[in-house]
Amino acid sequence: MRHLVWFRTDLRVADNPALYEAAADGTEVEAVYIDCPGQWQEHGKSAMQRDFLSRNLQALNEQLAQLGIPLTVLTVDTFAEVPGLLARWLEERTFDALYANREIGIDERRRDKAVQQILPIPCRVYNGDCVVDHGSLITRGGDMFKVFTPFAKSWLARLSAGGYRLLPMPAALGEPLPFKPPNLSGERVSSEAWPAGEAAAAERLTQFCQLSLRDYGERRDFPADDGTSSLSPYLALGIMSPNQCLAAIEAELEQLPFSRGEPGFAWLNELIWREFYRHLLVAFPRLSMGRAFKPDTEALPWSRDDEGFRVWCEGQTGYPIVDAAMRCLKQTGWMHNRLRMIVASFLTKDLHIDWRRGEAWFMSCLIDGELAANNGGWQWAAGTGADAAPYFRVFNPTTQGERFDAEGDFIRRWLPELTEVPARMIHAPHDWLDNQSPGHGYPKPMVDHGRARLHAIAMFDALKDREAV
Ligand SMILES: Cc1cc2nc3c(=O)[nH]c(=O)nc-3n(C[C@H](O)[C@H](O)[C@H](O)COP(=O)(O)OP(=O)(O)OC[C@H]3O[C@@H](n4cnc5c(N)ncnc54)[C@H](O)[C@@H]3O)c2cc1C
Repeated sequence: MRHLVWFRTDLRVADNPALYEAAADGTEVEAVYIDCPGQWQEHGKSAMQRDFLSRNLQALNEQLAQLGIPLTVLTVDTFAEVPGLLARWLEERTFDALYANREIGIDERRRDKAVQQILPIPCRVYNGDCVVDHGSLITRGGDMFKVFTPFAKSWLARLSAGGYRLLPMPAALGEPLPFKPPNLSGERVSSEAWPAGEAAAAERLTQFCQLSLRDYGERRDFPADDGTSSLSPYLALGIMSPNQCLAAIEAELEQLPFSRGEPGFAWLNELIWREFYRHLLVAFPRLSMGRAFKPDTEALPWSRDDEGFRVWCEGQTGYPIVDAAMRCLKQTGWMHNRLRMIVASFLTKDLHIDWRRGEAWFMSCLIDGELAANNGGWQWAAGTGADAAPYFRVFNPTTQGERFDAEGDFIRRWLPELTEVPARMIHAPHDWLDNQSPGHGYPKPMVDHGRARLHAIAMFDALKDREAV
């Protein structure tokens, strides 16, 4: 028997169901990765994530070589060419079955369906990206949950009843192979700040659990603090699995936390949000197609202010917490969750610009860009999503800064023009700057938040009025 494993967003050898099942009983295994640079561009993904992907593919190749599993990297432009390419490639080889872990975007699902139709061998597909498989948690009415809290309750009940399954890496299937580093084409921006590979991800996970898991709930909202795990780039490309996160929690706390208030629960809850958005993406394909979860919100009259959008992207809005966050994103490819919420609220509720433009900008910058979480986060902030922030809850960028970066430490890290501004003035520094530092160059606030907030609420109220007519 010979099995082929098709790696996609599951670049790991441990807890990889497709690889584990393919290699069961010592079956001979080969691996393939299909790079689609045109599709990467079409999905608007970042040059930094591409670099991270390339480096992690090298790390995977090294791991597979140690196990005696050869990896071939094939290249075509887009997903549309993948079925034909695989069929031709397989004509010259003999395999009994293809193994892969499921990908959840609509383009990926269409590609996989076409592959299954064209290939002469069975395709075996597994859940490798969620603790609880998509589609397996449903309401009493048989539908996907549209609200997080009951989803989380059901998710926790499933975990409590059935636990989770952590698969080992397969035993070596042959002598170590010579290692040929694959190299991906296309625009790349250095991602060296993030070490590549499963071992690096595991080390980060262990460190986080030892140092920050217990007080994550208290520290997670402060961007100047290092209180979150920074594991999102690894989870996004499948270098780490959510089961591995659960195992690390259990190893640290000696049990899994099942209710609010237990140490570590706040972090587990974020992993459940991740699964909520992934389950939604599978249940509602329109989310992969740039459509709002709440169809009525498609009628919102978003502003076409290109200049406002540019100013937001560049971090020149005149609101320090927004600007620091946006400049951090552009330079590092990563942004703290509290800041993602603040800047997303600012774009949609203060500038009234379509969430889809923000979603696309994030995708083009993020090293952890991932359709389900990015779309979920943007639609949550914009008030168009499942279990979204209520439309009348508009983040005030000044008071958010005061609450979550009280001393301005994060702001000063990214806005050199504000280095000298004292903490009590840092969130509204304009008067101080005009008096103490003429010619400072920091812009005045581009909008009046109070007025912008009322306008946003009126936009949503008008939707309700349309429904009532
Ligand atoms: C507008 C917006 C856009 C976002 N875009 C993305 C994205 O493209 N990719 C991405 O991975 N996350 C995204 N998030 C979710 C969240 O901001 C990041 O996952 C988190 O900041 C990553 O940091 P961390 O690894 O330190 O997270 P931790 O706080 O340590 O959380 C652990 C893991 O849980 C998951 N997670 C945490 N919060 C969320 C959440 N709110 N929704 C879904 N999953 C979550 C992530 O995989 C994260 O790595 C977005 C949130 C918003 C509001």
